[in-house]
Amino acid sequence: MIHIDILTVVPELLESPLNYSIVKRAKERGLAEINIIDIREYGKGRYRQVDDYSFGGDAGMVLMIEPIYNIISKLKGEREYDEVIYMSPDGDLLNQGTANMLSCKKNLILLCGHYKGIDHRIREHLITREISIGDYVLSGGELPAAILCDSIIRLIPGAISDETSALSDSFQDNLLAPPVYTRPSEFMGWRVPDVLLSGNPKLIQEWQESQSLERTKRLRPGLTDL
Ligand code: SAH
Repeated sequence: MIHIDILTVVPELLESPLNYSIVKRAKERGLAEINIIDIREYGKGRYRQVDDYSFGGDAGMVLMIEPIYNIISKLKGEREYDEVIYMSPDGDLLNQGTANMLSCKKNLILLCGHYKGIDHRIREHLITREISIGDYVLSGGELPAAILCDSIIRLIPGAISDETSALSDSFQDNLLAPPVYTRPSEFMGWRVPDVLLSGNPKLIQEWQESQSLERTKRLRPGLTDL
């Protein structure tokens, strides 16, 4: 069972991506627990202020340290966290290895930034790991956090019905997955490769391995150097 607390100023953005399909099933099966915390509930004063102008006059608002410090302190009083992760475009690029590693953890905090980002002291003193989902900038950390959760939770044994299925996906073993087909075996004259219809498991496995290798070399040559 993995427990994930997600800190956000826009909780609505996380509702749909984490409430369907494999993630939903994993939650129902008691394999994952996701708790979404609205940073605004810890905001300052009557107006629940969570952001302020940045020192130095750069355009854009910055999430303040105090509400986030208070939430993280409270959470840490309730359980021991393996990682406090900040979703950030300048963090380590998310890959399958990171997802595998995090899927073995028990308790995670994910912090979503917004606007111009978060007070840097949060990153210096409270965050243990920073993760980016790619070299582009989004409006907030919610979609990246949802992506990270999905990539982790589907790896927990029992989340995917066919236990071996996640292991044969792309990037496990640094290889891309082979092509897959389903019925009908012929459509508009386009045929499924004969070998897949042969019923010979050894030949099929050899074909899948050679396709994996060929596709990896052609499409993602860098993967084989890892
Ligand atoms: N001013 C910042 C970007 C802020 S974008 C900069 O130039 O680096 C607002 C928030 O969106 C960030 O705090 C972060 O939590 C999230 N975010 C944006 N792009 C992201 C990415 N590629 N990966 C992970 N999080 C991202």
